[in-house]
Parts: sequence; structure tokens; C-alpha cells
Amino acid sequence: MSNEASTGNGYRLATELVHIDSDVVKDNYNAASVPIYQTATFKQTEAGGSGSEYDYSRSGNPTRTAVEAHMAKIMRAERAFVVTTGMTALDVILRLVKTGQEIIAGDDLYGGTNRLLTYVSQYNGVKVHNVDTTNVDRVVERLDAVKTRLVLLESPTNPLIKIADLRTISRRVHEQCPDALVVVDNTMMSPYLQNTLDLGADIEYHSGTKYLSGHHDLMAGVIGCRSASVGEQLYFVINASGSGLGPFDSWLLLRGVKTLGIRMEKQQSNAEQIAEFLEAQGLKVRYPGLKSHPQYELHQQLASGSGAVLSFETGDVGLSERIVESARLWGISVSFGCVNSLISMPCKMSHASIPAEVRKQRRLPEDLIRLCVGIEDPRDLIDDLAQALKKAGVDVKH
Ligand SMILES: *Cc1c(COP(=O)(O)O)cnc(C)c1O
Repeated sequence: MSNEASTGNGYRLATELVHIDSDVVKDNYNAASVPIYQTATFKQTEAGGSGSEYDYSRSGNPTRTAVEAHMAKIMRAERAFVVTTGMTALDVILRLVKTGQEIIAGDDLYGGTNRLLTYVSQYNGVKVHNVDTTNVDRVVERLDAVKTRLVLLESPTNPLIKIADLRTISRRVHEQCPDALVVVDNTMMSPYLQNTLDLGADIEYHSGTKYLSGHHDLMAGVIGCRSASVGEQLYFVINASGSGLGPFDSWLLLRGVKTLGIRMEKQQSNAEQIAEFLEAQGLKVRYPGLKSHPQYELHQQLASGSGAVLSFETGDVGLSERIVESARLWGISVSFGCVNSLISMPCKMSHASIPAEVRKQRRLPEDLIRLCVGIEDPRDLIDDLAQALKKAGVDVKH
């Protein structure tokens, strides 16, 4: 259970989330909240440019250092970095791949990930293999000891909620391709529910825009890695390209992360009740916390919880549209991880950038509705879903 395991100080994760190590940023006034160093430059004490820990905020800023140290502790990473968005996190990681090398990635990836991988394959001469990562063999058969550079995984995937056996895939990749890096986009679970570095991944990244911030009031990306040398390479790219997170957003992210534990517990408990309610209506529900999920056991071995994103099918695109539009409490919006609940149709919204024929090939149902559950009273969320289903023409048992 990852949120049972203790981190550096010997505390459990929910405790570590709110406990900021005070020795990371030396503050003259013992401020209870890490100060926002809203500055581009730092005065030097010596003409040669040395003598200060910081000189220019692209290279380093104390507020950013504070959140990076905190995230490294939470992710049990050797080193962590915060960058401007989740996509920037992937962009930084993709700079470790040279022309001629290959990437193996899932086939139910986040839409933006798909778009950036397509770009890299078209402009950088990098071959991208999209495979069904629920089957370890599909990944292994694509491995090439010379060419494979990255194996990019998500688990659970979004919106199909497919589980990849991160532990076995990591082991097989490292056995066959010692130079390849296993990279996991762990946004869906957050570090609170799943620790992929412990499962064997080399790099874990997050869209900090989602659960880590929790309020949809900032955009950020977080990258954690297991080795110091990979950390050096990532830092080089971040400094060279200027993708580090600004001081104010670093401060907001640090504030958001403190409540990750209670938010996730509540969102997950709400999601479990909603998944059961929808399943009781005879709808096909995808949620890793339901025993009916074909990979229920596997997910429980990898993560300490099932999270707060689920999806379901209605059998009819028009019906799905009517349900989504009839919801009152559930906001129609892309994204997830916010304290308020959201409803969306991935094929028309977050995944619309994937061409229709590719969506079909990857068996992404056009009528799929995705729910991202917030911290509201679950009775209100279920009542609102029930009225939306009824209004759209579903016979509701409630
Ligand atoms: C949102 C998201 C991203 C991209 O993050 P941004 O902060 O929007 O750039 C990447 N992966 C997953 C799984 C996401 O949900």
C-alpha cells in the first residue's frame, strides 16, 4: 500500500504531504508559508558570478526548489522537477530521445500525449509504437536492445481505464534493454495512490494541473526520477529550454499538494459510490475499484486505491449527449482532479485531437461518458446523475 509506506522522515504519506522540511529554503523570518521569490535575478556577491546559490530564475529559484524538494520526498524520487505544464514534463523527457531511437507507448494515451508523440515521430525521426499495454507481451515484442529508448506507460489509462502491469513491464524492459527508460504518466493516480518509481519505473511524471494542485487554478508538470544521472539530463533540458515553473505557480502547487491526501480520500470514496450506483442501473462501468473490472486484482497489487475517475457507456451517442447536458451539478469540462465534479464525452472533448479512425481502431466508444468525481456530498452527485439519466430517457432505479 503506497500511502501506508513511509518516506524520508519516517512519517506516512498523508503526514509528509503537509509537512514541509524547513531546511530546504532558508528564510530569515521563519515564515510559516514558503515565501514567493518573485524575482528573475539574484544579486551576486562576487564579480566572478559565484558566491550565491541562485543567480537567474530560469536556472533556479528558491520557491521552485521548495516544491521540487517536497515532490521528491512525496514521490520517493532521487530528484524531482516542476515545469510549466504536464505536457512540458513529457516534452522535457522526450528530449532524451535521439533521432533513430524508438518509443513504445500505450494505445489509450492522454490526447495531448498522442499529439506530442505524433509530432516527435514526424519531425524528429523517432519511431513510436503504440501497443496495448494491458498485455505485457505486446510491449516486450517491440523491445529492441539498441533502438528502444523510452517505454511510456499510463495506468489506469484514461478514459478506457485499462491497467498496465507496471512492475512486470519495468522488469522485462530493464532485462532486455538496459539503456531504455520506463516512464510512467501517473497523473490519474497521483503519488498518493501509486508510486511507480517503487514499482520499477525510471521516471514518473504528472500533470500538476490535476490532483496535485486540486483546484484548477494553475497549470504545472512534475517529473521525478530514480537516478542522479537521469536527473542531471532532465535538469540540463529544463535549464536550457527555460521550462521551469515560475515562482508564484510553484507556491500555488506547494499549497495544493498539502491537501492531496484528504481530497483524494473523499473523491475516491464518492467515486466508489457513484460507480456502484451506475452499475446498478445496468450500465457498463469502467472503474478499477469495481470487482467487475477485468483487471481489478492487478490494479490492487499496483496501487493503494482506485482514484476518482470512471467512465461508462450508454450504447448511444445521442443519449450520452443528453445525459451530459442534463447534468446540473456536474460541470461539463475537460480535465480532472479538481475539488468539483466534472462530466465529459472524451471523444468530443479531451480526446477529439485523436483522429476518428484511430479512435475506432483503439476501440474508444464514441458514447463513452467520463466522470471526474469531486468532494461534494455524494448524495447530491448521485441525485443529479439520476435526474440527468431520467431526463435523457433512462429508466432509473434510485
Ligand atoms: C492533463 C494530463 C496531461 C497534460 O497535462 P497539462 O498540465 O494539461 O499539460 C498529461 N497526462 C494526463 C494523464 C493528463 O490527464
